[in-house]
Amino acid sequence: MGRKNDRSSLFRYNRQMLFEELGEEGQLKLLDSAVVVAGCGGLGANIANTLVRAGIGHIKIVDRDKVELDNLHRQILYDEADVKQGQPKTTIAAKKLSQVNSQVVIEPVVVQMNADNIEDIILGADLLLDATDNFETRMLLNDACIKHGISWIYAGVMAAYGNVFTIIPGQTPCLRCFINDLPPDKDIPGTETYGVLPTAVNIIANIEVTEAIKFLTGKKEALLHKLINVDVWNGTWNMFEIEKQDNCPCCGLKRFDFLDNPRQKLQS
Ligand SMILES: [Zn+2]
Repeated sequence: MGRKNDRSSLFRYNRQMLFEELGEEGQLKLLDSAVVVAGCGGLGANIANTLVRAGIGHIKIVDRDKVELDNLHRQILYDEADVKQGQPKTTIAAKKLSQVNSQVVIEPVVVQMNADNIEDIILGADLLLDATDNFETRMLLNDACIKHGISWIYAGVMAAYGNVFTIIPGQTPCLRCFINDLPPDKDIPGTETYGVLPTAVNIIANIEVTEAIKFLTGKKEALLHKLINVDVWNGTWNMFEIEKQDNCPCCGLKRFDFLDNPRQKLQS
């Protein structure tokens, strides 16, 4: 991924640099970072918005969808005009966010992530942030990131709660260490069944970006190192220890089932 490092003005990050864990050194690391945001819906729009404002140097946003009216309650970058105009979400996001911060590169990619393109998409990234809405794609992201040694942050939201877990290849457990496989049918209930509160989306997105800032500035000791579950309705924050599985098909046995034998190929 190409990087554009205009360091002529750091003033805009003044309040962020005053935070003692970051400083100017941390800010320069953020400006020199390249990330992929996988999805530009509720989580992705919120994540992209904060990453751009925080000065992450190169942000690739991947999504093929257009804006629908029932996205607006939680997808903070879009408005009613976007629903009418029918442009892809990533195109709209890049256009709006480039007006927020012209120092960073925002690269919209309008595709459906799949086994054929995901490795090219993540090439050169320092980190990937999960903003997808299904485990089929997350398993694919997990395979591709573990295979190429790229760290990624798993995140998901449903109803009033969500989870975040930061995955560093070779160091932490991966997604398949705790979700070994998917059910045989593809109909895993999601937000279309249980709905989703915008407040849950916002909190999970912000926890995810905080983990990203720690990772990109080299503050690995500050990472949560556990799966965090937040329920905004019941007001609970819980942390769960995840154990690395030696016989994990992905990070243990280095078998990339979702990359090599994606269901769409098996079914066709
Ligand atoms: Zn694993």
